[in-house]
Amino acid sequence: MAASGKLYQIEGIVLGRRDYGEADRVMICLTPQGRADLLAKGIRKTRSRKAGHMELFARTKLLVSRVEGSWDIISQAEAVALRPGLQEDFLRGTYARYVAELVMRFFEAEANQQLYDLVDWILATLEIDATPERLVRWYEQRLLSLAGFQPEWHRCVGERTGELCEVALVPRPTDRSSFGIDPARGGALCRDCLAGNRGNSAVRPLSPSALSWLQALQERPYADLSAFSLSEETARELAQAGQHYIAHHLEFRPTSLRMIG
Ligand SMILES: [Zn+2]
Repeated sequence: MAASGKLYQIEGIVLGRRDYGEADRVMICLTPQGRADLLAKGIRKTRSRKAGHMELFARTKLLVSRVEGSWDIISQAEAVALRPGLQEDFLRGTYARYVAELVMRFFEAEANQQLYDLVDWILATLEIDATPERLVRWYEQRLLSLAGFQPEWHRCVGERTGELCEVALVPRPTDRSSFGIDPARGGALCRDCLAGNRGNSAVRPLSPSALSWLQALQERPYADLSAFSLSEETARELAQAGQHYIAHHLEFRPTSLRMIG
């Protein structure tokens, strides 16, 4: 082995990987100490013992050899959780790719135990949850908060005549007219501020039902949400609102959900 560096142990979740050379792979792992790109030598050979422990989304204990000026090299891997449900189910696998994509785009190398615990729990739950789409919407709100982009869904973020509006947003099921979503200002708009932003293509209408869901997704534990019904129409609107908000802050539209619209 080329590496002769110090060995260290670490636990990581495989978020992504890319082929390198003839038989190697660079594994993109999320660890409690931050993101780590590690080289798995010979992992594409059929006899590789590491391969089965380093599937996408697996949580794995790693023994790693430090290499100066290059990727550290994985010398041993032992899966703690393999998550076959995310490999075998197209929809759950697609959501898991999206979970991983957001982590890789929003976070650099910094240590973040909360992020690690969140991603681990989300992937484990995504394997078995009855409403994976709803889980992913909840995850978007958690991730935005951890990344420092927590949207304001309770007070209007609009401005009128140079003053912040800040009116309380209280959506009711019987409401007919829309609120607004304004990613640049970081949250939702009252009806008056929505009307005042008609020419602004980044501002979009948001139904009372969708706003009420965004408030719940942000402030409630996931387990509470199964008690609420979610219409297909609102679910679609929530997906669009999440994508619109995230795309603005990433300056990039996530690619992993394209297959399912
Ligand atoms: Zn307002």
